[in-house]
Amino acid sequence: MRTYEVPLVPGPTSVPEAVRAAYQVDYGSGDLEPEFFDLYAEVQEQLRQILGTRNQMAIMTGEGMVALWGALKSCLQPGDRVVAVGTGPFGYGIGKLAESTGATVHAVGFEYDEVADPEAVEAAILKYRPKMVTAVHCETPCGTLNPVDAIGRLVARHGVPLFYVDAVSSAGGTPLQVDEWNIDLCLVGSQKALSMPPDLAIVSVSEGAWEVIEEVDYQGYDALKPWRTALADRWFPYTPSWHSIAALNVACKLLLDEGLENAIQRHAEVARYCRRRVREMGLELFPRDEAFCAPTVTAVRVPQEVGWEELDRRLRARGVVFAGSLERLAGVVFRIGHMGSQAQLDLVRRGLDALEEAIAR
Ligand code: PLP
Repeated sequence: MRTYEVPLVPGPTSVPEAVRAAYQVDYGSGDLEPEFFDLYAEVQEQLRQILGTRNQMAIMTGEGMVALWGALKSCLQPGDRVVAVGTGPFGYGIGKLAESTGATVHAVGFEYDEVADPEAVEAAILKYRPKMVTAVHCETPCGTLNPVDAIGRLVARHGVPLFYVDAVSSAGGTPLQVDEWNIDLCLVGSQKALSMPPDLAIVSVSEGAWEVIEEVDYQGYDALKPWRTALADRWFPYTPSWHSIAALNVACKLLLDEGLENAIQRHAEVARYCRRRVREMGLELFPRDEAFCAPTVTAVRVPQEVGWEELDRRLRARGVVFAGSLERLAGVVFRIGHMGSQAQLDLVRRGLDALEEAIAR
């Protein structure tokens, strides 16, 4: 397989050597060994610090979508009302997933180059009185960051039982305070700012959400319910991946040893640099307002005189890999992923130097 010197895809991100090394150990059975339970408890404690919560976690084998599906199916029943905040493919997509559980979904929709307006979300909460509000923190295909803190305050003020937040591509790279922001279900994947392979789906679950989960009693491979007592009872719903949990332990340690504040600042600095260079090249950022831009990924309009396919080819020829985008943004937007291990000024500088050459040709 060809590897690139300058990997800048917005996930899966480049996996640091220390994290890769954690997979090389010949572990025993996670179902049997007390050491595994201690490791799981240690990882949960680190994730609590990273997400700003005292909540209990479910750390499931799989990747982001497992968390997205599992949390919806574990909490919703036919006829439940959901307000789904949509500012991009994931926000609208979560609304569709919720609909498939039989819930009645009301989308509060915005353009892909915008972020959510909390006032419009509040109006929808008052109109529909939902059981759940869903939102995406960083809408990766659009390079935007939604005001989840402000939405969380409204959710609490109006007594919505469940606030579901997809933090797959923000956790570890942006400020995120699950408890302070009243997030009941915070969903994280391992392959973005945590810089692991796409191995694990993490959900932090509030006490209120655990009660709903007990009541709904959803049975399925992706069910959250067994995770409430898994560690205490030493009984996991399936054989846990010791390899992945060990790697997550290293990934969390790397982040916490750097200091969460420092890591967040590193992401902000790299993102600012990236946006400035993009503008100086005469390219256009995709989000309508720079204040909407995410610190983990920058979305840029494809220069149409080159086109995405040709631009991608020219970049790869220079050892650089960016990503296109999804759905109706395919061919319209390309993305520079500077999250986790890739939020490095020097790496992003090399990527942008290559971009400058590629569009000048
Ligand atoms: N949510 C967001 C915002 C994402 O960017 C992604 C993946 O890019 C997902 C969910 C889905 O995660 P996965 O591809 O790991 O299943």
